[in-house]
Amino acid sequence: MRASDDLRRLDRAHVWHPYTPRPDVEAGLPCIVRGEGPWLWDSEGRQWFDAISSWWCCAVGHNHPRIVEAIRRQAGELDHSILGGLIHPGAARLATELARLMPDARVHVHFASDGASAVEAAVKIALQYHHIAGRPERCGLVALQGAYHGDTLAAVGLGFLEQFHAPFRHICRRALTVRPPVEDRSSEVALADAREIFERHRDGIGAVIVEPLVQGAAGMRMYAADWLRGLFALSREHGALFIADEIATGFGRTGQWFAFEHAGIAPDIVCVGKALSGGTLPISAAIVRDEIYDAFDGTSQDRTFWHGHTFAGAPIAAAAALAALDLYHELDLPARAREIGAELEHRWAPLRNHPAVREVRILGAIGAIEMAGAAEAVTATARRARDALRARGILARPLGGVLYLMPPLTTPAEVLRWVAEAYRDAVAAAV
Ligand SMILES: *Cc1c(COP(=O)(O)O)cnc(C)c1O
Repeated sequence: MRASDDLRRLDRAHVWHPYTPRPDVEAGLPCIVRGEGPWLWDSEGRQWFDAISSWWCCAVGHNHPRIVEAIRRQAGELDHSILGGLIHPGAARLATELARLMPDARVHVHFASDGASAVEAAVKIALQYHHIAGRPERCGLVALQGAYHGDTLAAVGLGFLEQFHAPFRHICRRALTVRPPVEDRSSEVALADAREIFERHRDGIGAVIVEPLVQGAAGMRMYAADWLRGLFALSREHGALFIADEIATGFGRTGQWFAFEHAGIAPDIVCVGKALSGGTLPISAAIVRDEIYDAFDGTSQDRTFWHGHTFAGAPIAAAAALAALDLYHELDLPARAREIGAELEHRWAPLRNHPAVREVRILGAIGAIEMAGAAEAVTATARRARDALRARGILARPLGGVLYLMPPLTTPAEVLRWVAEAYRDAVAAAV
């Protein structure tokens, strides 16, 4: 028996895989044992291209030597020390680097460990801020239709979907939803709808949360920057805080450091995660404008944020993030993303009028091909395309009927060309 068969047996006996239906588990999953750059190797020695940057976080590929070295060095010096009542150098430096990336550096960074926990913190900070200001009625939250902000309960309330979340209906507080200008919907119509919601809930909205420009889990759905600007203005006008969830889009992915920059706005709270540590260790943050932070002055119990996670801003993860950010600057990741986008535009041009393709969407280093047809059929087509890609050594994971590519930003040009063409061929083969 091969070692990998043995591992599969152990896995089948005891691992509960996230986001994986049981039939897929039974069909046998690849066992990944090593990574380098945009490549992964499985236990049978097969080499795979990581077409989704391991859930969108390995921005500079796997095991980048500079990040690995930073982790090693930090592990030898200080493994863990908490941020509750103590300081450590990594968190102080990382917060400073993150502040520098914001439109205005007057911010405080609340660290967490996963994306969802940064979103939870952001939402709680926004609501407590209004509470402190004597506006407890400002407790409504507005999210976009099709939003995804993570899988904890408040986050699920922001992106509630009947088909996935029905069992939690009674424990999730559902957000008010506005439909962004996607499909054939114009920015004007979508903005008029948003205005209507603000007027209907006058003075009752505490915060608006968005995935700026790209709704990842909804199928890399993209909407116009002018609408985001309009929504931001509306939320300002109505006294609601504006939260940009940049967990998927941050750190250059869309061709700017942050996707909200395409709209020229300055959100009140920015959530980051995923690529923050280059996909090496869990770390996330809610980056909060000082005007909000200043309300939490500790002069009474409700003016302290009684919230934190054991591993928030942990030293080794912070060291990894500092090394990652250093690399991102050096490699100019936003420029790399724009180059990848241009290559995809070029290679996928023929797909734009392919009868089996509903839409091709590209922004920076995010490319999505949405299949045309009924929901069941497109999901099956996308899965066949995925299988065709796997046969060529490319690990993709479609979202329903959307086949997408979100490669490491350091993918060499000739590899990217090969991958982009493989996607084109896979779509043709799947229909
Ligand atoms: C992945 C993601 C999250 C959740 O992050 P986790 O680390 O998986 O908890 C939240 N928001 C967006 C936009 C994401 O893409």
